[in-house]
Amino acid sequence: MKAHDGMYIDGAWRSAAGRDTIDVVNPVDEQVIGRVPAGTAEDVEAAVRAARAAFPAWAAIAPAERAARLAALRDVLVARKDEIAETVTAELGSPLKFSQNVHAGTPIAVAGSYAELAATYPFEEKAGNSVVHHEPIGVVGAITPWNYPLHQIVAKVAPALAAGCTVVLKPAEDTPLVAQLFAEAVDEAGIPAGVFNLVTGLGPVAGQALAEHPDVDLVSFTGSTAVGRRIGATAGAAVKKVALELGGKSANVILPSADLARAVNVGVANVMSNSGQTCSAWTRMLVHRDQYEEAVELAATAAAKYGERIGPVVNAKQQARVRGYIEKGLAEGARLVAGGPESPREPGYFVSPTVFADVTPEMTIAQEEIFGPVLSVLRYEDEEDALRIANGTVYGLAGAVWAGDEAEAVAFARRMDTGQVDINGGRFNPLAPFGGYKQSGVGRELGAHGLTEYLQTKSLQF
Ligand code: NAP
Ligand code: MG
Repeated sequence: MKAHDGMYIDGAWRSAAGRDTIDVVNPVDEQVIGRVPAGTAEDVEAAVRAARAAFPAWAAIAPAERAARLAALRDVLVARKDEIAETVTAELGSPLKFSQNVHAGTPIAVAGSYAELAATYPFEEKAGNSVVHHEPIGVVGAITPWNYPLHQIVAKVAPALAAGCTVVLKPAEDTPLVAQLFAEAVDEAGIPAGVFNLVTGLGPVAGQALAEHPDVDLVSFTGSTAVGRRIGATAGAAVKKVALELGGKSANVILPSADLARAVNVGVANVMSNSGQTCSAWTRMLVHRDQYEEAVELAATAAAKYGERIGPVVNAKQQARVRGYIEKGLAEGARLVAGGPESPREPGYFVSPTVFADVTPEMTIAQEEIFGPVLSVLRYEDEEDALRIANGTVYGLAGAVWAGDEAEAVAFARRMDTGQVDINGGRFNPLAPFGGYKQSGVGRELGAHGLTEYLQTKSLQF
């Protein structure tokens, strides 16, 4: 993948308004692998204008035609799967196999799901003496992070396009190359000029200009709670719809009847995958006091096995931040049983897979999102105690429950304040709505619920 030195606006690669660039760095060896333009408010202006101009025609075509374009986009992503995986591995540092299966595989599944939903979704319904039309909201400003860089782009762009909206995307500064590859794929798929536009750049410059643009009808943001709060406030002041997918601190609740070894091993794998940079990761493992020491030992052994296989975190700042949290865990009295704050190898932004035992619910490492390969194991007395701990953070994005029988796990899951729960290791489902309770966000992505976010209703009475 060769970096473009322009922005993809109105169906072509155009020179950026300014001259500043962003270096793209490989987190494995800290080498610069490419340069992309750092967009300004002027580039955002041009992109929003193109998206606005393209909106009426794209909104007016039959959903089946939009479905056909999305199916073509899915096919291009399939054809370029290896290139996608190699690009994500180069700019994010994730192991190639994970990039193939997850970073390339998931967006293909999601694009496919929206090709199908665009064709089958009831954009018109009857309610008594009314006909209700589900109409596209308009121009979408999409701002995405680097941790699942293509997935997070497709999880916004595919439903927006399926709904009949047009889009301006500002991807994360750390992972702009796969965003450029996506723009090439949109072009190859024959999606009309202006329907999708890309402005690479820095969050506080290009991102903020997009979030504040008066001609953007909906802002869809995934990233940190701090930035999400500001974007939500700006959108609120402008009476503009907003979707926020923010942080998490999910609980993995292992009930006494569960298969302990399986629950612990799957739980550790869940936290360590993508080097812990997953908003829905089960970073708090909750174990009954009678099984606690056995679980801690299993977790430490499982984490140590990740030592050689784990990729780096995305950049030096993130590495310092994660190591800072590990220091904080030690300072607050948690017991380190695997990993630690030392850098396991150099160069590269590596962090050791780390497990803390004797973590209590009020500790910083049990409350704040670390976004690195760090697991906290907490002890509970009984089920009520487990529930209190599980629900005792400001977040509510995901979680897991393990029990001897499904009904027992389901009963517990129904009492959790969270948007997603995996029962006894249930698999990821690209059709299940994804999004948070409490401060984990506003709105849902994926499946039919994710499509609804980009629609507004018009009722005609007869
Ligand atoms: P972030 O700053 O919130 O970045 C997310 C996106 O927002 C990026 O495209 C970013 O641009 C952009 N952005 C930043 N400031 C902005 C502003 N003022 N206005 C508009 N857009 C803006 O997140 P981060 O710095 O990459 O990561 C920090 C922490 O956030 C992580 O440690 C983690 O805890 C959390 N996080 C959560 C998720 C998630 O999936 N929920 C994903 C990533 C990070 P730049 O790339 O230029 O900064
Ligand atoms: Mg940032």
